Amino acid sequence: MAFEGLQERLQGTLKKMKGKGKVTEQDVKEMMREVRLALLEADVNFKVVKKFIADVKERAVGQDVLDSLTPGQQVIKVVNEELTKLMGGEQSKLRAAQKPPTVVMMVGLQGAGKTTTVGKLANYLRKEHNRKPLLAAADIYRPAAIDQLQTLGKQLDMPVFSLGDQVSPVEIAKQAVKQAKEDHQDYVIIDTAGRLHVDQELMDELQQIKEAVSPDETLLVVDAMTGQDAVNVAESFNNQLDLTGVVLTKLDGDTRGGAAISVKAVTDTPIKFAGIGEKSDALEPFHPERMASRILGMGDVMTLIEKAQTNVDEDRAKELEKKMRTNDLTFDDFLEQLGQVKEMGPLDELLEMMPGAGKMKGMKNIQVDDKQLAHIEAIVRSMTKAERDNPSLLNASRKRRIAKGSGTTVPEVNRLLKQFDEMKKMMKQMSGQQKGKGKKKGGM
Ligand code: GDP
Repeated sequence: MAFEGLQERLQGTLKKMKGKGKVTEQDVKEMMREVRLALLEADVNFKVVKKFIADVKERAVGQDVLDSLTPGQQVIKVVNEELTKLMGGEQSKLRAAQKPPTVVMMVGLQGAGKTTTVGKLANYLRKEHNRKPLLAAADIYRPAAIDQLQTLGKQLDMPVFSLGDQVSPVEIAKQAVKQAKEDHQDYVIIDTAGRLHVDQELMDELQQIKEAVSPDETLLVVDAMTGQDAVNVAESFNNQLDLTGVVLTKLDGDTRGGAAISVKAVTDTPIKFAGIGEKSDALEPFHPERMASRILGMGDVMTLIEKAQTNVDEDRAKELEKKMRTNDLTFDDFLEQLGQVKEMGPLDELLEMMPGAGKMKGMKNIQVDDKQLAHIEAIVRSMTKAERDNPSLLNASRKRRIAKGSGTTVPEVNRLLKQFDEMKKMMKQMSGQQKGKGKKKGGM
């Protein structure tokens, strides 16, 4: 998973600070030495690291921090705030044209994830904002790119504009915008050609497209896995094309995170979206604050809540939350939750967003893969209604019956009962932690 090394090191360092009732300048200096190493190891640009350390130090050794009642926590707060600032501060939303269609031009090197991201962005705009995008195939040099976009369009049931590979990309882009106007599509997302390296010919062509259609957004797609290279690529593209934003892809991989932390600081171009998988729904608006909290192990409660909100009906969610708090969760609720969890995405990804989840007792036992999910479902479905409401009814003979009915074994049934118990405990703990956190809805 992304940021693993960095998370571990930073969290270890910050933990030493956390409970301190008295913090000296020397403490801060020592901590910052470790933070500096952690960032460099995560492939964060060295200039960025230098400035970051200086900024944190200056604020952290200030009188009001060191003299406060909780200096250790105050220092961590400063690190969190500065890390957020580094990654762009406020979330940067997608611009919209005053008069539709909004034109988004997608640029980037080959393999960065451009074509995939065109589909993801279109899907996001429709799903979250009820927009009607037109996808435009202006990468004429890689014939497969046109096919790829057309396939994506079919999968998403969205129109794709193509003039084949014999018409110039500038003309294709112009015609696509015209078509979108005629058809009242409110976004045009243009897929452009990439190369293996930055070269002038490509830049010239992209500049021509840009002049021809004056995009509202020129988004650079970069692969987070390439670390410092991603930052260099962003710098070159920005110098020539005046980017309005960056989409960082493959944040689901085990990137050390350097690109995510340095891109904004080096190029002064905000990261607008993060790609977190190959599928069409694996795109998220980039929230610097949440990313900083995730790196520092403060969890990412907001993202989790939003994910839950798009999948859960509000009243039912409230009811479940109450049950969790009062420990009244039944196996029927559990089944319902499992169904929702399956829709929300891979479990390990969700778990990573929970504050302190990694360290929570019993958490390891709760991690289940999709095949196990099917077993669990079978076991629960083999219980009677009374058993599902009250698992304490389950004696040895009932367990044998359930194991037989679900094609599993008694130890498996026992394991599930134990997991269920642990989950209930954990949920209770979590709902306690989350109380008082306000709801906030992100932008595009
Ligand atoms: P393009 O050459 O820039 O158009 O790149 P493509 O869109 O063809 O993507 C290249 C490869 O990266 C494909 O195999 C994609 O499935 C994959 N990819 C794109 N975005 C992501 C992402 O966010 N996560 C992961 N894991 N893979 C991605």
